[in-house]
Amino acid sequence: MAAPILFITPPFTQLNTPYPATAYLTGYLRQQGYVAHQADLGLEVTLRLFSKQGLEQIFHHLDQIDQTISENAFRIYSLKDHYLRTITPVIQFLQNKKPTLAHLIVERGFLPEASRFQSLQDLAWAFGHMGIQDKARHLATLYLEDLGDLVREVIDPHFGFTRYAERIARAASSFDPILEALDEPPTLLVHWLEACLEEKISQFAPEVIGLSVPFPGNVLGAFQIAAYVKKHHPKIKIVLGGGYANTELRRLADPRVFHYLDFVTLDDGEAPIQQLMAYLDGQATTKDLKRTFHLSQDRVVYQVNSKVQDIPLAETGTPTYADLPLDQYLSVMELVNPMHRLWSDGRWNKLTLAHGCYWGKCSFCDVSLDYISRYEPVQAEILVNRMEEMIQETGEYGFHFVDEAAPPALLRDVALEIIRRNLTVVWWTNIRFEKNFTYDLARLLKRSGCIALSGGLEVASDRLLARMKKGVTVAQVARVAHDFTRAGIMVHAYLMYGFPTQTEQETIDSWEVVRQMFLEGVLQSGFWHQFAMTAHSPVGLEPAAYEVETIGPVFDGFAENDLFHEDPNGANHDQFGPGLHRSLFNFMQGVGLEEPVSVWFDFPVPTPSHPPQLISEFLSEEPTKIKLTDRCFWIGGNLSDTNEDGEWVEIIFSHPLQEESCWVPVDILEWLELHLPFANYPRLSELQDHFPGDLLGFLNSETGSRLREIGWLIL
Ligand code: SF4
Repeated sequence: MAAPILFITPPFTQLNTPYPATAYLTGYLRQQGYVAHQADLGLEVTLRLFSKQGLEQIFHHLDQIDQTISENAFRIYSLKDHYLRTITPVIQFLQNKKPTLAHLIVERGFLPEASRFQSLQDLAWAFGHMGIQDKARHLATLYLEDLGDLVREVIDPHFGFTRYAERIARAASSFDPILEALDEPPTLLVHWLEACLEEKISQFAPEVIGLSVPFPGNVLGAFQIAAYVKKHHPKIKIVLGGGYANTELRRLADPRVFHYLDFVTLDDGEAPIQQLMAYLDGQATTKDLKRTFHLSQDRVVYQVNSKVQDIPLAETGTPTYADLPLDQYLSVMELVNPMHRLWSDGRWNKLTLAHGCYWGKCSFCDVSLDYISRYEPVQAEILVNRMEEMIQETGEYGFHFVDEAAPPALLRDVALEIIRRNLTVVWWTNIRFEKNFTYDLARLLKRSGCIALSGGLEVASDRLLARMKKGVTVAQVARVAHDFTRAGIMVHAYLMYGFPTQTEQETIDSWEVVRQMFLEGVLQSGFWHQFAMTAHSPVGLEPAAYEVETIGPVFDGFAENDLFHEDPNGANHDQFGPGLHRSLFNFMQGVGLEEPVSVWFDFPVPTPSHPPQLISEFLSEEPTKIKLTDRCFWIGGNLSDTNEDGEWVEIIFSHPLQEESCWVPVDILEWLELHLPFANYPRLSELQDHFPGDLLGFLNSETGSRLREIGWLIL
């Protein structure tokens, strides 16, 4: 019998929902007959911190220390009785357990307020339109953020709600900064982390601990866990994997890392962990380990073992959230960015539709790594089976498909399957704004429960989009975003500035594209990121081809990902950040859309070179032609009534909002009665044979267009 394994997500990732990696691994290993458990120590530590006992310890610590504190920290300290009185009900409110508390919270005066509440002045516009639950959730979030500021100032400077000591692990080419941080005297947070860990160890008695580290903000927490386990439970073996290892630790060479860890695995965890379990069980040797670093005679050795195949995503089984206290996650609420709000509010079941990216070409993306390059979709039936199983397990109908770029054909198939099974779900995901996303597909996705999509408009410049091999143009992004918006799906754009060779004029032109898209109402949310050159992207691998030069950091045995670079032909990119962020913040509220560009930047900038009608002209271009090879599907409701008048008949469809009607010739009605709702998703060529007349001509006629508006989708 293989040793029991405990997968841990170290602090801190998300407060509102578990990170999916441990759920996938636990689900898979259990399916294979292993004893596997999981824990989210980020949540556990957060709940200890934001408890009456936790705050008492913090205030007690403040009583003991001889340290000058800021005015804000002093204010929080002086309101400690209010915090101690309110913390338990506020946490329960954020866990959706005490909704009526909203009435007290919104009255103001119930919650103690410190510096974070000053932001309310800037957000008065949004606040006025919100419902009472949302208002209260936002005020409770500010209250926690105030306490977070206090923790950072007097308890642990590394603390952040969704990251811990991120600055240390980002670009940690040497292991030294991690070692230095581990040598610091343990803070109250570290003591709580250790206490939570000890509880899990006594609960599950693991012989192996798998640390799943998605981001730099989980790295120090992972090593703190490992240090504790090595000291107090030296027999437990520790393996580290996850997104951070997959991207940053591929050249790991520092033996000191293995004072804390026994193994580090790369890429998908299922097969490497299975091999590792076999090794620990005495059924295999170190040579059988797969994509695993370990220490051999004081040297770091990487065992590839390509003879053992990875487990296809279709066979990894349904992720399980067993062991995780799903009712204790906190739905905090950010106001500014609608998409970020989805990220932090509500508990989403997380599911991957396909391994890797079907496009896999963008030159700024980690396309040389397995998690992007190995594209392997899962059949829609299997995915929807998984969705049903997860609903069964969690009672939760919301899904976040965590793909980097969900393929349109697979999304279509999943949507059809959801509709056929009459399943009620809500979902959102990332996409690429490609031409296969038509208005009708957008309507199908909406009908299946899609509420939001995010995708890359990136540099919003055709020259640079071509250089980054994004495979889209500004016109195409505008049209696709427009179609989603018309279908009632919120659209968030990832925006980028500072791509190699991007000039000042191009940056301002991309600002103008974004402004016009908000003006036209085709975007509702966005975020500007500055281009980062990563070691595994085409730009990082071949900087000269992109006219940039790598200037560091020098790799020193630990992590390698973000590279410093110089862009001699580009603008001074750093200076654009504040103006881009400020203007976007306003555009998302519909403010300042007619202001000239100079209003947003505190240095002289060029005038946009785009015509003011650029985006509206893109949107008025002709829709794509219907072909007999297209397939169709009906989402227009049941045919509920008819009114005859000679050769023509009015047909009425029942719809949740209102009845929809259309006049058609009698023979068309007879045909529709036979074929709706196109349940087997036929091609138009198959329907043409039995159609009374020319089907394509009919679909382009006034009557056909009316039926298409009601719900005859051409896909
Ligand atoms: S940026 Fe997105 S679309 Fe482009 S290769 Fe990466 S995952 Fe795929």
